[in-house]
Amino acid sequence: MKYHVVLFIILSSILFPSCKEELPTDKPNFIIILTDDQGYADVGFNGCRDIPTPHIDRIAANGVKFTDAYVSYSVCGPSRAGLITGRYQDRFGFGRNPLFAANDSLMGLALTEETIADFTGREGYRTKAIGKWHLGAHASLRPLKRGFDEFFGFLTGGHQYFPEEWTLQDLSGVKAQYDAYRTKILDNDQRIEETEYLTDALSREAVSFVEQNSKDPFFLYLAYNAPHGPLQATQEYLARFDNIKDPKRKTYAAMVSAVDDGVGLLLDKLEELGILENTLVFFLSDNGGPEQVNGSDNSPLRDGKGSLFEGGVRVPFAMMWQNGIKGPLVYDQVVSSLDIAATIAVHAGASPANKLDGVDLIPYVSGKNSGSPHEYLFWRKFDQKAYAVRAGQMKLVNDRKVKDGLFNLESDISEANELSDQNMADSLKKQKDLWEKEMVDPVFMGLGQDKEYSREHPERFTMEAY
Ligand code: CA
Repeated sequence: MKYHVVLFIILSSILFPSCKEELPTDKPNFIIILTDDQGYADVGFNGCRDIPTPHIDRIAANGVKFTDAYVSYSVCGPSRAGLITGRYQDRFGFGRNPLFAANDSLMGLALTEETIADFTGREGYRTKAIGKWHLGAHASLRPLKRGFDEFFGFLTGGHQYFPEEWTLQDLSGVKAQYDAYRTKILDNDQRIEETEYLTDALSREAVSFVEQNSKDPFFLYLAYNAPHGPLQATQEYLARFDNIKDPKRKTYAAMVSAVDDGVGLLLDKLEELGILENTLVFFLSDNGGPEQVNGSDNSPLRDGKGSLFEGGVRVPFAMMWQNGIKGPLVYDQVVSSLDIAATIAVHAGASPANKLDGVDLIPYVSGKNSGSPHEYLFWRKFDQKAYAVRAGQMKLVNDRKVKDGLFNLESDISEANELSDQNMADSLKKQKDLWEKEMVDPVFMGLGQDKEYSREHPERFTMEAY
């Protein structure tokens, strides 16, 4: 008997080598393409007319367009912290937009947290972050310390776009909050002499990364800072928009067009390498457009960046994975940027150390799971005591403009008509209170406390050369 069992095990291992060994070749690649401050209406797949985005639209046309997709905060830093961890950022005190403070090890993504790069890296994925980081400039918080094998970009919340503006050799030249917009670009730990328009350089590096890693699974986090200010574009891109008279919108359009070109180069390269079909590509903006600042358009949504009305948190969002989803699809249930980490974890076969707040989107999109991915989504802005809850088509918003205003998004996408349903409002508020019990206060001061922080940290701008 024992002999037969042993023989069976030996034969099985010869005839059926363990699945684990075969998995890597089948594992999909993952790419997150994140834009910065792009409006809900400013992609072709959401109906944009004056800014063609044919390449971004390819993602939706070959995959799925999400109509009701949200980020977890309405400005850059906290939204990115939620995205890259897959967890509500208030769980770990990232409830503010960080200040630039490279001497401060608390100013950024808490070390208790894993990034998508951490858990995909453990499964053998090659990982790279390109573009805007904004999750901490301290030596312990930089991309190479947060799971990424490679980094190309800049650490702060934005950057000048033209090489001639990059006049600071490194952080030792930074003496005020926005000076870091002028530092030279980082290639891993090295400051380099980059010569291209920033958006083009980021696209070039993305193409190069997939070219070098086409044989092994990879995770690429491509975080364009466009079309975040300062509004700067090359003549090549501006010349495409003679039809747009408003100078702000014209430059914004040119910046979006540059991103779209980059997305096209990247998709073309994946196709050429024969790996497009098994690459899961996400496209989204990190928050709503600040319409007055950069000429973006969130219509028909109310408000924009910084707000918890739809214009602040509902974003253009598309996903493609030809081996896993047969597009084109339109998915109209509520989804979140928090779902990206969960989706990647499942399909990378990874085991994140912390509990994620999102879900694998694939079974929902394919129709295998017919329910809604989220019974509730929550937002809060700690300093403003503002919050919002979405459940089904109902949304409760509390901020400066409305006190516990209730809206039905199905009939009122613009949140123009407050409903009087006290029971519903109370019920949503109660869920928000339960959720908030799991959240913690911010662990660092934010952009609004620049002066106060500088007073308390006189060493703030005494950085070494790095
Ligand atoms: Ca942003």
